[in-house]
Amino acid sequence: MTRIEGRIVRGIAGFYYVATEHGIVECRARGKFRKDNVTPLVGDIVEIQMINDSEGYILNILPRKNELIRPPIANVDQAIIVFAIAKPEINRVLLDKMIVLAESNDIEPIICINKVDLKEDREAFDLVTIYQKIGYKAVTTSVVTKDGIKELKSYLKDKVSFFAGPSGVGKSSLINSIQSNIKLKTGEVSEKLLRGRHTTRSVELLSLDFGGYVLDTPGFTALTLDIDIQDLRYYFREFLELQRGCKFSSCLHVNEPDCNIIKAVKEGLIDKNRYLSYLSLLKELKEKEKRRY
Ligand code: GDP
Repeated sequence: MTRIEGRIVRGIAGFYYVATEHGIVECRARGKFRKDNVTPLVGDIVEIQMINDSEGYILNILPRKNELIRPPIANVDQAIIVFAIAKPEINRVLLDKMIVLAESNDIEPIICINKVDLKEDREAFDLVTIYQKIGYKAVTTSVVTKDGIKELKSYLKDKVSFFAGPSGVGKSSLINSIQSNIKLKTGEVSEKLLRGRHTTRSVELLSLDFGGYVLDTPGFTALTLDIDIQDLRYYFREFLELQRGCKFSSCLHVNEPDCNIIKAVKEGLIDKNRYLSYLSLLKELKEKEKRRY
């Protein structure tokens, strides 16, 4: 029988559901994976051997671009990092932390400021502009007025994405508004269900009718930064060029002499809140290191 390639979109109790050009194929993994201690993950591109029209087994897992532990998924292209302009208030440090988490996992962060129907001022727009200037894709949305949903969809097209962000910001509502046949539970109920679901650790990639996939479970549920203190400054994109002008190549931009980043903050070339987030995350990493020794 034929060998074909596909992507694992769901895995339950040893069965993997692989989306292929012939539709969904129910697969088991061959014993060799157990021997090599490799578990196929949702998101994996796999080579399968068909047994009949709808069943097969996994022969090979193609090299992964990245791999997350919680939720367990491979080959994610982008994280839609959602915050609300109100209810709940935005936490800029957490937003920037999520961007760093994405960058350090080789995932493209896309910033989405939701619930813009709740505030009529320019705050959401100004915030999005800050991130766009740095070079990120960023969008303001409202599930109520459907503002920005079209733009959000254009970012999701042909990519594997997951939504991340604090609870209550509208992640499930946004996913539901993308496509009519997707109906995730929203509000209080979803939190409870989600917690229940995490224990079973089953995640699913939802297929988008305009191309691409969205994970049905929010990402970055475990928010620990696991990077080197020296590396943090490379995950702030607007620092990359400017920090080459620092006197010391090891400059961490805290209080070193002739620091080009501190100068750029003073001159307004770097957003002050971004810099404060950097300092806050640096402190977090330093404390973590202290605990380790
Ligand atoms: P999640 O926890 O991030 O998945 O958030 P939900 O999608 O469950 O939404 C939390 C609450 O915010 C629900 O009551 C939604 O109806 C509400 N909500 C979501 N998006 C919007 C929006 O754009 N505008 C307003 N006003 N409310 C929203």
